[in-house]
Amino acid sequence: MHDSRIRKIVIVGGGTAGWMTAATLAKLIGRSVAIRLVESDEIGIVGVGEATIPQIRLFNATLGIDEDEFVRETRGTFKLGIEFVDWTRPGSRYMHAFGVVGGRDLGLVQFYQYWLKLHQLGKVAELGSYTFNQVAARLGRFMRGTGQPNSPLTNVYHAFHFDAGLYARFLRGYAEKLGVVRTEGKIVDTILRGEDGFIEAVVLDSGERIEGELFIDCSGFRGLLIEQALHTGHEDWSHWLPCNRAMAVPCASVPDPTPYTRATARPAGWQWRIPLQHRTGNGHVYCSDFMGDDEAAAILLANLDGEALADPRPLRFTTGMRKRFWNRNCVAIGLSSGFMEPLESTSIHFIQSSIAKLVALFPDRGFAEQTIDEYNRQTRFEFERSRDFLILHYLANARDEPFWQRCREMAIPDTLRHKIDLFRSSARLFREHEELFTEVGWLQVMVGQGIVPERYHPMVDMLGEAEIVQMVEGTRAVLERAAAAMPSHAEFISRHCRAS
Ligand code: FAD
Repeated sequence: MHDSRIRKIVIVGGGTAGWMTAATLAKLIGRSVAIRLVESDEIGIVGVGEATIPQIRLFNATLGIDEDEFVRETRGTFKLGIEFVDWTRPGSRYMHAFGVVGGRDLGLVQFYQYWLKLHQLGKVAELGSYTFNQVAARLGRFMRGTGQPNSPLTNVYHAFHFDAGLYARFLRGYAEKLGVVRTEGKIVDTILRGEDGFIEAVVLDSGERIEGELFIDCSGFRGLLIEQALHTGHEDWSHWLPCNRAMAVPCASVPDPTPYTRATARPAGWQWRIPLQHRTGNGHVYCSDFMGDDEAAAILLANLDGEALADPRPLRFTTGMRKRFWNRNCVAIGLSSGFMEPLESTSIHFIQSSIAKLVALFPDRGFAEQTIDEYNRQTRFEFERSRDFLILHYLANARDEPFWQRCREMAIPDTLRHKIDLFRSSARLFREHEELFTEVGWLQVMVGQGIVPERYHPMVDMLGEAEIVQMVEGTRAVLERAAAAMPSHAEFISRHCRAS
């Protein structure tokens, strides 16, 4: 009979996933377990992930990391949302901005219902004009929320752009101070226990054997433990998210970085632009059925804000997820657990969310099936609903290239079909359970992609048209005044967190 207590945790991989996991576990349970992290300099890290969503602030706060220091150390900038250019058709533009649409909801009726009524009457501006983060983003403004009530500035919902390699280094320093032991070396073998197939140890090319009770697979796309050793299986989503290649290239930074990510549709995919303090990150995500690597690189290089600082770096991936994220005594976190293209900056969030679930369900006394099943159920739900959200961006388009036609005609998951049908027919949107993206996110992308219902909530008609116009336009004026009072994004950075 094994003693089922967890005394030794082995983390395989030292990319963003490995060091985020190491730092959190060291902070939360480092006194009662020994944590060892193995990484290989020869293999290296993906090191792309540069754009995030606001939840990362909670992660940093849990670790007690000062936000200005974090932005300085990672050469970061602030992010109020994502701008989608040319997605619906060439020339179109909308934003998925973080935070709320409008001001406070009136009773139980959301602001956008009033907007829908005025939209039908042709008496309203685009939805983004009533979304504080978008108004501020368009002006190139940024500041943190003031906490003072009754103003759009009370709570500014922001995330960051940052250099993921520097973030991993920053967290490594943090984790090592808390006792995490790092080993540089290449794992060449994984030893499974005879009786139950649990992982017993990994073996390095030096011959060293590292044993543990819990193994966290942060080895990236290769899934060294979860797939190569445990053969867990992968669910392929290429039929819904067909892009499978990326070219990434940094270019010179600009003096006034935008406080938002830009995603521009291209003939067989899309291009990201992520401004950092010391450079701008760019990448072209595309589908190899419709475009070759040379053409993809040429399109990327022809559409940069500044001089390219390197040659385009090719990356290959298959969108999808592991059939189980936690299998026996191994939990896959990061790219080893699955990958969706970085359209809504979800990957680093999934790392954070996986760590949070692992902490909530930490197997301090062995590996109960119920615990493992619950972890897998919750993670699957989050992956699938986020997948639906990404598919929505591709689906509703009026572009004429073969890639986009295929996206328009594809069969979609029932869960997404239900959400679109409900919104189209009744103007209602609901966030289910722990879905990552809220009604506000879905609303902006639905409307941005041209899905605008011809109805609105019946309670809207409790107010007369003039009152609605006054309320909606009054909100816009308040948002504009508040945004105009903010400093510019560049000014805010140089005052608080400019890297030397
Ligand atoms: P990796 O960075 O690949 O790290 C794997 C680690 O495992 C390395 O340390 C490696 O040395 C180690 N390893 C592997 N095999 C062995 C072995 N045999 N022995 C020892 N060590 C080993 N995410 C976002 O949130 N926002 C974005 O904007 C974003 N953009 C992206 C764009 C692209 C094109 C891609 C591909 C990803 C993007 N991501 C983004 C995802 C993000 O890059 C990853 O989620 C993040 O970097 C985590 O990677 P990882 O740590 O899981 O894997």
